[in-house]
Amino acid sequence: MDAIYKKLLDIVGEDYVSNQNEELFTYSKDLGTSDPKWPDYVVAPKTTEEVSRIVKLANEENLAVVPLGGGLSLAGLALPLKGGIELDLKRMDQILELNEQDRYIILEAGASHGKLTAYLEKNTPHLKHSEPGAPPAATIGGNLAIHGQGDLGHPYGFNSDMINGLEVVLPSGEICRFGSCALGNDWYTMHPLPDLNMFMGWSGSTGIITKVSLRLFPCKKIQEQDALVLDDADLVPEVLFKLTHIGMAEDIIVVSQEIPPPFNRLHYILINLAGDTNLELEFKRQLIFDTHLSSYIQEGRAGIGASGQDIQRPVVSKTSDWRKGGGFEYVGAIVPISSYPKCYRHGVEVSGRHHIPYTTLGRVLGTGHSMMFSWTFAFNRADEETVRHAREALHETDKEVLKMGGTLWKPAVFGQKILMDQMDCATLQLMQKVKHMLDPNGIMNPGNWEVS
Ligand SMILES: Cc1cc2nc3c(=O)[nH]c(=O)nc-3n(C[C@H](O)[C@H](O)[C@H](O)COP(=O)(O)OP(=O)(O)OC[C@H]3O[C@@H](n4cnc5c(N)ncnc54)[C@H](O)[C@@H]3O)c2cc1C
Repeated sequence: MDAIYKKLLDIVGEDYVSNQNEELFTYSKDLGTSDPKWPDYVVAPKTTEEVSRIVKLANEENLAVVPLGGGLSLAGLALPLKGGIELDLKRMDQILELNEQDRYIILEAGASHGKLTAYLEKNTPHLKHSEPGAPPAATIGGNLAIHGQGDLGHPYGFNSDMINGLEVVLPSGEICRFGSCALGNDWYTMHPLPDLNMFMGWSGSTGIITKVSLRLFPCKKIQEQDALVLDDADLVPEVLFKLTHIGMAEDIIVVSQEIPPPFNRLHYILINLAGDTNLELEFKRQLIFDTHLSSYIQEGRAGIGASGQDIQRPVVSKTSDWRKGGGFEYVGAIVPISSYPKCYRHGVEVSGRHHIPYTTLGRVLGTGHSMMFSWTFAFNRADEETVRHAREALHETDKEVLKMGGTLWKPAVFGQKILMDQMDCATLQLMQKVKHMLDPNGIMNPGNWEVS
């Protein structure tokens, strides 16, 4: 028996390790345009201690370790670019403690957002977390490792800002805790200890998040969605400025897409509203539509697209039907809201040039402090030419984002490189020092954020 396989088997048991091609194959793929990359081993640990032992073994054997959550990042971020161990964290999915009074929940990082939502709906329906629009299999740890955002983006910002504590297995195998949980068993705050959080946005290349304390927020009894429709992209930032000033919405998303044809060139601002009573909901609706946005509607510059409908998430995965063959990938960027018209026009232009129906989406973050803007490119997995077009459109968009002064979100390796090329030297050197200090053998998700 392969000696490393035998050691992994001793750690997790024979049902949870494989070096067989049929299993390695399923882990060699990503949903986006990335080429397949094969791991040498797939391991699914159950505990933090098992993760720690696997990482120590990887250091001894000089093997890469790639953490994997739901594998839904689309940008190839959890592909084993340099082989080694694919560490599937989905068995680490326990919900450990719900603290209703102090509004947080402690859970293992391999738990999915779908599981958390179902748990909260059943056990404490008056509390919610910020759920990304990703498929429900997306994990808590994977979403934090890439600075995800969810349906409480307005007013609370990034999901990675909504944590009260973390447990991380460092690339050395040591287990560290951050926040009040470093002092004892209370997971209610990340601050005010000196800030040592070096794990968000690194795509698993500085450590493996194993436990998280997530903030919970009031969940009102009635949730509805209204939509305002505009045909003038230049007006969108002004409307969003007003909406974020009123502060009545929970989530504000602007979608524009070529298909179906009646949506083409229009901007649908989806506004999620919540209230414990109809009176509360109507008060918020009136403030938005009758007081602050009524002039746009009266002047014919905007119209009400929908009112009081059930919350619908924009289904960007639908775009995968548009070229047949089920493929799509998107560039996400964090940009100022004032960039919306430029971002939208780039989407129409680049998609048109690559024969892909355009889809753009912006989600407001914080009180209008920035926006996550995405450009989605569909391709047919069975047609290499369409994959090439999508890949080129993605790379062109990565470059355009930097030209516009934006920042790439969860960039693929191509985007990571151009970000680091543009980064000021002192910051890049600090990134190098952090990476080398934490991961001297370069085993953690190598190929991603390669700072040297
Ligand atoms: C249709 C669709 C819609 C989406 N909408 C959103 C959205 O609204 N908001 C949003 O934020 N994202 C969205 N996404 C992107 C992505 O799916 C999510 O961010 C998702 O939460 C990523 O989690 P995951 O478990 O799939 O991570 P993975 O893809 O498994 O991993 C992502 C990265 O994190 C690393 N990683 C995974 N787990 C850990 C861990 N425990 N510790 C350290 N590193 C780890 C991996 O190595 C990889 O580099 C969407 C994706 C799709 C397909």
